[in-house]
Amino acid sequence: MRSRRWFAERNALMKQAQLTHHWSQLPRETVRRLQAAKLRRYLRDVVVPFSAHYREMFHQHGLEADQFRSLEDLERIPFTTKADLVNTPEHPQRSRDYILIPDPQVLARRPSTVLRALLNGRESVKRQFELEFRPIFMTSTTGRSADPVPFLYSQHDLGNLATAGARVMQICAAEHDFRLINMFPYAPHLAFWVTHYASTAFGVFTLGTGGGKVMGTDGNLRLMQKIKPDVLIGMPTFLYHVLQQAVEQGVRCEGLKRLVLGGEKAAEGIRRKLRNLAARLGSPNVDVLATYGFTEAKMAWAECPYPEEGQPSGYHLYPDLGIFEVVDAKTGVVLPDGEPGELVFTPLDHRGSVVLRYRTGDVIEGGLIHEPCPHCGRTLPRLIGKISRSSEIKSMQIDKLKGTLVDFNELEHVLDDAPSVGAWQLEIRKLNDDPLDLDELILHVHKLNDAPEDKLTRELNSRFLERTEVRPNRIVFHGADAIREMLGVGTLLKELKVVDRRPQKTADGRPLPAISPATPNSESVEAPL
Ligand SMILES: [Zn+2]
Repeated sequence: MRSRRWFAERNALMKQAQLTHHWSQLPRETVRRLQAAKLRRYLRDVVVPFSAHYREMFHQHGLEADQFRSLEDLERIPFTTKADLVNTPEHPQRSRDYILIPDPQVLARRPSTVLRALLNGRESVKRQFELEFRPIFMTSTTGRSADPVPFLYSQHDLGNLATAGARVMQICAAEHDFRLINMFPYAPHLAFWVTHYASTAFGVFTLGTGGGKVMGTDGNLRLMQKIKPDVLIGMPTFLYHVLQQAVEQGVRCEGLKRLVLGGEKAAEGIRRKLRNLAARLGSPNVDVLATYGFTEAKMAWAECPYPEEGQPSGYHLYPDLGIFEVVDAKTGVVLPDGEPGELVFTPLDHRGSVVLRYRTGDVIEGGLIHEPCPHCGRTLPRLIGKISRSSEIKSMQIDKLKGTLVDFNELEHVLDDAPSVGAWQLEIRKLNDDPLDLDELILHVHKLNDAPEDKLTRELNSRFLERTEVRPNRIVFHGADAIREMLGVGTLLKELKVVDRRPQKTADGRPLPAISPATPNSESVEAPL
């Protein structure tokens, strides 16, 4: 006779399948109910038994997976932060505590294991567990100042990466006969690999150039002329330089349909500039779509196409693969739909490296919403509005009295939105190179048209003061090639848009009475995508 447990198990699996098959068309309450059920199973069967870190955390806080009945219960799990994953002298291999290591004895005792062994043989079951749990792939975070944190994937995770990637293609309305050029750098970073798995899973021709560092801007341009792509995907700053150089060289590139951006913010201004450049190459009306993702999520999300005069409708999420919460960055309290706050992510099907309630440090302006998308009609959770990184709020000593917190997210938007500004770089340094003196902000600019320099300087100063509390101490104008060199286009994995050249120590090695955690060249990059 079939036991109650068997029926309960079958019921749970059917619910899980419903969430996966109908990921883009379920109403809010159903999504939340099914997510809560999947979370409970995931914690009970996968995370708590096999994660050293969370087993200990659940034990310490008296938590049990079966107590998780609704999504509100998620709030009982303490946050995991970036700092928790970074190695310290006492814990030189900290990220290892977050890797799932299955206990063969626990697995062997499960009725489902016994049943599968009877049906398919022990070797087959062993192989299945290997595919599920054995790490075979890795990406890492890209922070230049901190040690990169490795994130491991099993075959099971690569399956999910492909699923999430194919969904990016669907959301962006890709077509199978498109030709793509993947201009993300070849590196063990999410951006390149999610694009690779996305295109192979969706089934579309893709050429990876490795970005600027492998082939240079010229090499990318040559391939664009050969391949005649429908889609370019890469970091906005790099795509901008490739298209700008194409315009300078009088190259035609007709037939571009989408520019898909990842790894950096995509301000409305930079989208407009990219659209204009594509039009000058012979491709009017391209869709410029942004994606969002991070190493710890092992996936990325995209915007769907929207009318040129309209607004993007946000990042379309996959409710079966993870849960986003938006929390008050100061108190950590979960906020209602539509309110701005910090993004917190919990996966629902990861193996390999697993972090729960991960605080991204990214602040979403319009919050999380569940209403049907006004452009594509899908009913899935979406993240609305600009994303700012809390790591890009830097402390600066602008006057003798006190430090000022400067939001570089906002400065970047001001510059990207300024119509006469092409490429730019913000440099922070010490006045007279004296480590104890005030900080100064220098703006390096390549101007786009023949606007006189003094007029543009006045205009930029007033734009800065309108939207922020600071203005640059100096604005320096450069030619296109010079600014490319300063930014490291074609030589670095990621262009240096914000460069912090303040020394961290005095000449005799004492730490400065510093007000900033930044190190030289720490332009606060997180994982691309
Ligand atoms: Zn949509």
